[in-house]
Amino acid sequence: MDDLFLRIINREIPAKIIYEDDQVLAFHDIAPQAPVHFLVIPKKHIRTLNDLTEEDKGLAGHILFTAQRLARELGCEEGFRVVMNCNEQGGQTVYHIHMHVLGQRQMHWPPG
Ligand code: 5GP
Repeated sequence: MDDLFLRIINREIPAKIIYEDDQVLAFHDIAPQAPVHFLVIPKKHIRTLNDLTEEDKGLAGHILFTAQRLARELGCEEGFRVVMNCNEQGGQTVYHIHMHVLGQRQMHWPPG
């Protein structure tokens, strides 16, 4: 399957990139669901959360701490939400794992 986010990593399609290092890339979502809505993705191709392995533990932690730091830097001190959708029923549409970070509006629960 075509990996859209790999194409963003490789700069084959444009994105508003916020942060990059050797392991992760963060960029604004093309269809934001909140005033702040960005995605943190690993550079390593991992299709779904179910495909994470023990060897990805450090990478998973790095994604989480990158999300936390960038949320703070983008003005979400009052709160924010992180979401990882897994597979079709979980609402996943792009099959390269990504952590959504949404902020600067009131969130509600359950998410629906
Ligand atoms: P999912 O539904 O898989 O959890 O989330 C995929 C997210 O990727 C969606 O929020 C969608 O708006 C975003 N997205 C899809 N295509 C693109 C794109 O080409 N560029 C960017 N920046 N975001 C995209």
